[in-house]
Amino acid sequence: MKQFGIYIHWPFCEFKCPYCDFNSHVEESIDEGRWLAAYLSELNRYANTTSKRTVTSIFFGGGTPSLMGSETLGEIIKAISDRWNLCKNAEITLEANPSSAEKNKFIEFKQNGVTRLSLGVQSLDEDSLLFLGRKHSVLEAKEAAILASEVFDRFSLDVIYGLPGQSPTKWKRELAEIFKLVTTHISAYQLTIEPGTQFYRDKVQTGGEAVEKKMFDYTYDLLEKKNLNAYEISNFAKPGHECLHNCTYWTGDDYLGIGPGSHGRITKSDFNYLGLETYATLGIKSPKKWLENVEEKGSGDLRTSKLKPSERIDELIICGLRMAKGLDTGKFFSQTGISLYDVINKEKLLTFKERGWVKQNKDTLFLTHKGRSFLNYLAVDLLA
Ligand code: SF4
Repeated sequence: MKQFGIYIHWPFCEFKCPYCDFNSHVEESIDEGRWLAAYLSELNRYANTTSKRTVTSIFFGGGTPSLMGSETLGEIIKAISDRWNLCKNAEITLEANPSSAEKNKFIEFKQNGVTRLSLGVQSLDEDSLLFLGRKHSVLEAKEAAILASEVFDRFSLDVIYGLPGQSPTKWKRELAEIFKLVTTHISAYQLTIEPGTQFYRDKVQTGGEAVEKKMFDYTYDLLEKKNLNAYEISNFAKPGHECLHNCTYWTGDDYLGIGPGSHGRITKSDFNYLGLETYATLGIKSPKKWLENVEEKGSGDLRTSKLKPSERIDELIICGLRMAKGLDTGKFFSQTGISLYDVINKEKLLTFKERGWVKQNKDTLFLTHKGRSFLNYLAVDLLA
């Protein structure tokens, strides 16, 4: 079955982390009732054109959506199930921070429909937490992870590595500790310094390419030995515990983006047979303006644009190569009407195969472990 996800963006946090380039804001007071009404209004708008679809996943991201009241979240899930066919076993993920974690709230979220928790612990080292500007301690991170494991059958920990001064040995120890807390899903991201962040303004340097490569290799080795497969470049899961919602993005299936700055993809051929037309939607970034626009004009969209065939092809290849299973050539054809091997650079493909970076079998094209270290470079060259 085709996946169809709904992403809900809650743009507020208790504090702004210095490395964060997400659309997250700190506000003294939030009128949750107004926000709920706006989310419901946007869901109504999208339901007008997509309600015949089956929703396979919902993802509450942010920001810190666990700051939202559990009843607000429950109302949103109910509105989705009233307007669409919500799959019986739909994956409903909520992102949470250890500092906003309390057992009662986790239980309430579960009672209101959440089936999976993604907990942003980021580190199990006090100095690293301090450097990352996090407000929780190692103990709080551990307690929150234990709570999450008691309440949810499916949960994940988010961690960051490649911090300045962090040695591969230190990361090894930390990763082993992390694995004691969660054995089914870990998202491990290398620290990147993004423009617009406090780290960027402070000219923070990451650990350096050679050290990061060692940590990347070590992360893969340890987690794969523990049967957590690197199903995506930064995501490791036991079979059956992969995040289906994120797989929807990487495999090029459709999703709605509801909330400030959120992205969506809607392929029109799926519901009114207009042909292979994929539309990219983008919400207004400012929470205040998004809310006012929804209330006054009935839409929080900044724009909806039809993707050019070349744009669609590029994103399918770049996203597909992030996944261990790679690009499904049959699916690629059904999404674009073009054969994958007609659009990628054949000479480069041959070179990368000879170097052991890329492999092909009957139906797929995928990167080897070695090739995954060069993902960005490889994808750009294959598209040249
Ligand atoms: S809690 Fe998450 S979303 Fe909020 S500022 Fe920190 S990293 Fe960004």
